[in-house]
Amino acid sequence: MIRKTDFCILGGGIAGLSLADALLEHNIESIVIDQNEIGSGASGTPGGLVNPATGRRAKKTWKAEECFESILSNLEKAQAFSDSSFFYQNGLLRPALFEKMARKMKNQYDKTTWPEGWCEWKTDNEIQEIHPNINCVDGGLWLPIGITVDVGAYMKAYSRFLKSSGIDIYCGEKPYPISKDDYWLLELNEITIHADHLVYATGHTVATSPFWDWIPFNLIKGQVAKFQKESGPLGFPHSISSLGYIARLGDEDTFIQGSTYEHDFSNLQPNDEGEAYLRKRLRRTLPQLEKESTIVDQWAGVRTSTPNYKPILGLHPAYTNLHVFAGLGSKGLLYGKFLANHYADHLTTGKSLYPEIDLNRYTLS
Ligand SMILES: Cc1cc2nc3c(=O)[nH]c(=O)nc-3n(C[C@H](O)[C@H](O)[C@H](O)COP(=O)(O)OP(=O)(O)OC[C@H]3O[C@@H](n4cnc5c(N)ncnc54)[C@H](O)[C@@H]3O)c2cc1C
Repeated sequence: MIRKTDFCILGGGIAGLSLADALLEHNIESIVIDQNEIGSGASGTPGGLVNPATGRRAKKTWKAEECFESILSNLEKAQAFSDSSFFYQNGLLRPALFEKMARKMKNQYDKTTWPEGWCEWKTDNEIQEIHPNINCVDGGLWLPIGITVDVGAYMKAYSRFLKSSGIDIYCGEKPYPISKDDYWLLELNEITIHADHLVYATGHTVATSPFWDWIPFNLIKGQVAKFQKESGPLGFPHSISSLGYIARLGDEDTFIQGSTYEHDFSNLQPNDEGEAYLRKRLRRTLPQLEKESTIVDQWAGVRTSTPNYKPILGLHPAYTNLHVFAGLGSKGLLYGKFLANHYADHLTTGKSLYPEIDLNRYTLS
């Protein structure tokens, strides 16, 4: 059987699903294919933050307001397709851990215009009022708008929403795409796809694709651990970003510590070194909690970024119908839907892509 479609998207993570959704909103039909399951790549993390103040200086992220609006409405839309809550707008604390960090964060804060209610500078004492016994030197930031997401659960709900909107999603298939000049042919187990366009939204594996191996991607492995406090509730509702991050979801007594840090890695599995590293990071922020908590689950994934830390979107220079959407870095949640909308707009109206994210900032060699 032959199935014709406008776009075939390889990859069922934040990038692929957001693009399928945005194309549909622009009346463009697509199908999604994932070699594993939906959210089986970096987008399967059990705890991630929507954090518009990133890095050591807590700099406001690129197009923060627009990105934030897109992800919040997307989370709300997908939530209707899940039986349990997978996101919480529970705020985000960013304590400085040493003097220089506090100075840099404060300088950055003083020269940034934040939307009303997004971000406040707090003294040490004020940080201690929000979170008693947290390690903090010379103050930090409080972002009441911060959102914490079970990203894997978000992906599952998002895929249910897309299916209900008529988008076909095929999992456990890794077809070899054949270019027929004006369309792409992909053989699945029981169906053949003829797609006018092909999109690689394949996360970190994009870096090894012969179509895209000339793009200077940086791959960094990260690990997250789910901790359980041995006795009693945690006593704080918010998430924290200091060394790595501490994500609080719905449970009273569990939290997630995560960090991406391994530039050289030989496999994608969580391991004992990861556990030790995450414990050390947790100890630096919340020493007492580290003593009182045990790890009940561990997960690993790869973050894909580019030299200017901006995603990559665009058309392959040697093809008229081969596209890439990758390199979402540590801000996949913030960037995903906003950039998918931007790309669908570009395709349908001819509006230019933002130069910072345009694939053509790199040259095919
Ligand atoms: C430890 C860790 C913590 C993070 N924390 C945060 C956070 O707090 N906030 C945040 O915003 N971001 C965070 N990120 C980053 C975020 O997870 C990523 O930016 C985002 O998930 C990338 O989405 P993606 O769709 O590009 O890739 P992926 O999620 O990796 O999806 C790619 C998909 O493509 C599939 N695939 C691969 N090759 C093929 C093929 N040939 N054919 C078909 N399918 C294929 C894979 O199976 C996979 O499902 C974190 C990342 C890590 C690793």
